[in-house]
Amino acid sequence: MSHERFERPTRFTAGADSFGGVFAPETLMDNLFALETAWIAAGEDESFNSELTRLLETYAGRPTPTYHARRLSEAWGVDLWLKREDLLHTGAHKLNNTLGQCLLARSMGKKRILAETGAGQHGVASATAAALLGLECVVYMGALDAARQAPNVERMRLLGAGVRIVEHGQRTLKDAINEALRAWVTDTEAHYVLGSALGPHPFPSIVAGYQEIIGHEARAQFLTAHGGLPDLAVACVGGGSNAIGLFRGFVDDAGVELVGVEAGGVGTEEGQHAARFKGGRPGVLHGCLSYLLQDEDGQVQATRSISAGLDYPSVGPEHAALRAAGRARYESATDEEALAGFKDLAAREGILAALESSHALGWVRREREALAGRSVLVNLSGRGDKDMATILEVLAPEQDGEGS
Ligand SMILES: *Cc1c(COP(=O)(O)O)cnc(C)c1O
Repeated sequence: MSHERFERPTRFTAGADSFGGVFAPETLMDNLFALETAWIAAGEDESFNSELTRLLETYAGRPTPTYHARRLSEAWGVDLWLKREDLLHTGAHKLNNTLGQCLLARSMGKKRILAETGAGQHGVASATAAALLGLECVVYMGALDAARQAPNVERMRLLGAGVRIVEHGQRTLKDAINEALRAWVTDTEAHYVLGSALGPHPFPSIVAGYQEIIGHEARAQFLTAHGGLPDLAVACVGGGSNAIGLFRGFVDDAGVELVGVEAGGVGTEEGQHAARFKGGRPGVLHGCLSYLLQDEDGQVQATRSISAGLDYPSVGPEHAALRAAGRARYESATDEEALAGFKDLAAREGILAALESSHALGWVRREREALAGRSVLVNLSGRGDKDMATILEVLAPEQDGEGS
C-alpha cells in the first residue's frame, strides 16, 4: 500500500474510507511538511539506506530468525511459526523504527529527538538510537506510567536521555503524546520520534515503512523453510506498528489471511478493554482519523489491558483501511487468553514472550480447533523480561504446587 493514500487531509466522516489524514494545528504543519520532504528524499538516498541497513544488520541484529515452533505446534494442532523480533537489540521491534527515524533526524540536521513513551519500551528504543547516533534525547512520560515502569525510567537515564514527567490529564501515554507534540512546535532543533504507526501523516507511513522489514524478511524466510506461504499471518495490535510491519510483507499475497489481535482486557464493557474495532467507531485522536474508543459525545474512553503496549484508545489508520478493504480482520484476546498463550510458549518452547505478543499467541490457542493443520506465522514482537513483575503477580499463586 503506498503512502499516497494518507497524504490528503480527510474530513471527519464516520464510515468514510479515508482513514489517516493530518488533523493538526497550523503551528505543526511546517514541521510535518518538512518531515515528509526529508523522509521522501531519504528513501531515495542510497547512502542513507545503506547506513540504515548496516546498523540494522551489525548493531540491531537483523535479520531476526523465523522459527518453526514444533513442540507448541504439536500441542495445539496448528503448524506454528514465529518471527523472532524478541531477539532484536533492546528486546522488541521498536528499534527498527527508532533507528530509521533517528537517522532521518540526523539527515535533517537536527540536534535532538523528542519521544513519548507509555510502558517505556519506545522511550528505551529512542534513547538507544539517540546514544548511538550522537543525538540528544528527551522522553515525555506520564507520571502514572513512570511510577509503574520505574526500571525503564532508569534505563533511559542510563542511556543519557532526559525524562520529562507529565503531571496533567490522566498522566499516561495520551498526555505524554500531547506534551511531546507541543514541545516539537517550539523546538526547531528537534525531531519528534513517534513510536507507532499512527499520528498525523506522514508518521503512520514513516513508521510502517521502517517496520515492513519484518514482513519482507519473514516472507522470504518462510518460503525458504516451508516451500510455500503461510495460511495466516498474525500479530498483536497496539498502535499497530509491528502488525503493519508484518502485514506489508504479505498484503499482495491474496492467499495469506491477515489477522490483527487487539487487547480484550477483562470484559466487553466500556473501560474494560482496548478492542477499538469491536467497541470503537471512526474518530480523530492525535492527528489522524481511525477507529477510536469514544462515548456518544466523542469523548475518548478509558482502556484496560494487562499489556501496557496494547492499552491505547485508537489504532493506526492503515489498519482501519485494510479492514475497510476486507484485506485484514481484527480479533481480540483477553488478559487471561494472553497469559495462557504466554505459559504454553514458555513451557513448550523455552521462550518468555512479551505480554503484547502473547495476545497473538492467545488468539491462536483459543482458535486452535478452527485452525487445525493450517500454517500460522505469528510475529513475536518482543520478549517478556519487562513483564515479569506483572506476570508473577498473576501466575505465582496458581503455580504453587503445580510443579510437574
Ligand atoms: C510497544 C509494543 C507493542 C505495541 O505496539 P505496536 O505499535 O502495536 O506494535 C507490541 N509488542 C511489543 C513487544 C511492544 O513493545
